[in-house]
Amino acid sequence: MIKLIAFDLDGTLTQHKTPLEKENRAVLDELAARGYTLLMVGAGQCARIFRQMGEYPLDIIGNYGLQAAVYDKETGGLRTVRDLIFPVDRDSINERVDALRTKHGFTAYRGASVEFHPSGCVTFAILGTEALQADKLAFDPDRIKRRAIYDEVVATFPEYTVFVGGSSSFDMAPRPYDKLYALDAYAKEHGILHEEIVFVGDDYGPGGNDESVYLSDIRFIKVDDYTRLREALGDLLTKEATT
Ligand SMILES: [Mg+2]
Repeated sequence: MIKLIAFDLDGTLTQHKTPLEKENRAVLDELAARGYTLLMVGAGQCARIFRQMGEYPLDIIGNYGLQAAVYDKETGGLRTVRDLIFPVDRDSINERVDALRTKHGFTAYRGASVEFHPSGCVTFAILGTEALQADKLAFDPDRIKRRAIYDEVVATFPEYTVFVGGSSSFDMAPRPYDKLYALDAYAKEHGILHEEIVFVGDDYGPGGNDESVYLSDIRFIKVDDYTRLREALGDLLTKEATT
């Protein structure tokens, strides 16, 4: 009874921010051939996701639902259907981030403390926007540091959904946007029920950007290694979609 398979990108179909490789592209092709509708529900911008996926033909939800784009078969490109921009009170956010930095000793950083995205999403870059890649990777590989203060960051930014993002940051999307909200809206628009959806993602732990879907009534397939996507999908690759 599955019609729609929705995917996360980084860590699920690809290595973080790297192009979709031919093995998983072939998996998507097989699912599409079985009649499933494929959907990308990403944290980044639609255009960037589309490029990272080698212009794979599917609809894309970006920025936790602030953006949406449909694949146009005739042009082979994306057509933007939603591109919301939320106002941001930068002073207020900087003040609150500074207070968190002082309290927890995260006072040293390179570049800017906070990245303000055009959409209204915000990144609290603990090591700064110009931090060295090696420092970022070494900072919190098991996410223990960020999970320790996650609840406090959530409480500090009640107007945002807060995610433990990247290697050393918190990403924030204006409420009510998150992947569940976006997926639910897409499903309603297309007359698809939750029980007809499978979501495939890797970031389902506390503060993860797939957690909202994981905790919902939608069936969730965990991918802990994107090179083993095929195994994780199990019988979806042998069954036909419901039509
Ligand atoms: Mg991911």
